[in-house]
Amino acid sequence: MEEILCPDCGTKGKKVNIVTVKSLVEKKVKDNASYQICLNSDCETVYFISSGTIFYSREDLKIAVWYKDSEDDKVPICYCSNLTRGEIKEAVDKGYTTAAEIRKYTGKSITGNCLTENPASQCCHQTLTKEIARYYNKDNI
Ligand SMILES: [Zn+2]
Repeated sequence: MEEILCPDCGTKGKKVNIVTVKSLVEKKVKDNASYQICLNSDCETVYFISSGTIFYSREDLKIAVWYKDSEDDKVPICYCSNLTRGEIKEAVDKGYTTAAEIRKYTGKSITGNCLTENPASQCCHQTLTKEIARYYNKDNI
């Protein structure tokens, strides 16, 4: 498979669904293109297409991308339920350390709208697990 690199930073991209791009980018999005998301946390570019002539940066999006704003507590980790990093930190502080416990504590249940709400077109499960570990392990080392 052809590797498609971010026109801004040269990092390999990950394919996202155009439905996601259309839902999250504030500008009019070009149809019939195959979009990638830049996985580099330090890069301003979020979405791009293979030719590299069209791309959307962080400021073109309605929402923040969790790994590009890795210290912002207001950024959602689970986009479909708007479960934020700050809420996860708070729940871990209170002793809730699994995704299920945190969802119960915060009352933020999965709605399944990952395709239109998660910037990477994916379910947040893995990200949520990693984010919990980030705060849980910090206190237990
Ligand atoms: Zn990039």
